[in-house]
Amino acid sequence: MDVMTGESIADRVRGILANIRTAAERSGRDPRCVRLVAATKTVSVEHIREGMDAGLSILGENRVQEALPKIEALAQAQVRWHFIGQLQRRKVRSIVGLFDLIHSVDSVELAQEINRRAGEAGRAQDVLLEVNVGGESTKAGFRPNELVRLVAMMAPLTHLRIKGLMAIPPPTVEAESARPYFIRVRELAQAVVAERIPGVSMDELSMGMSNDYAVAVEEGATLVRIGSAIFGARHG
Ligand SMILES: *Cc1c(COP(=O)(O)O)cnc(C)c1O
Repeated sequence: MDVMTGESIADRVRGILANIRTAAERSGRDPRCVRLVAATKTVSVEHIREGMDAGLSILGENRVQEALPKIEALAQAQVRWHFIGQLQRRKVRSIVGLFDLIHSVDSVELAQEINRRAGEAGRAQDVLLEVNVGGESTKAGFRPNELVRLVAMMAPLTHLRIKGLMAIPPPTVEAESARPYFIRVRELAQAVVAERIPGVSMDELSMGMSNDYAVAVEEGATLVRIGSAIFGARHG
């Protein structure tokens, strides 16, 4: 229960799912095409369970060390895991097979390592390519102007399935200020599709967080990653 608002985690999950539906309908989209990924970094298994009872079905973790014990603790639960944080190449081996989708492939080298480890495990890994839409030097991700060329380089990796794009726009005070970045991500995906690269699809756009997910849904997000609006502000 939040001391300020009296709202529980379950109340907030239900409210966000309703907002996603409304935003999709407002923009003429099918609400079933938008999935909520709960960003669960620093959140306890107990609080995650509260969210699951209210309808969370996809959990997004940022750090391998934090994710592994949570995955084990929730092994009996009906829940899927996505990896959304920056992934170091040396950690790839320990996560292959655990995550349905890795949102945050930010270099060709990382893509190659995921391909190699997935191949060793006899699997194919679904991934999104992270795009640095704001051109920020502090942020990971492919440069928009290099994306099409590098997608073509990664497309032949047989144990990697490129499913779409992910982006974290520069922080803005007003959600509306993020809209041009979301539009840019959608246009980049369209530019990749126009190349008709075999084995590459751009069905998923992972964009929108607690402050701006409604705008992201209006602009075509299929996955929104939401943490603090569900679980409250993170400490530390
Ligand atoms: C923490 C995190 C989120 C969620 O951020 P909130 O502002 O708390 O909703 C989304 N995406 C990534 C990659 C994150 O690390």
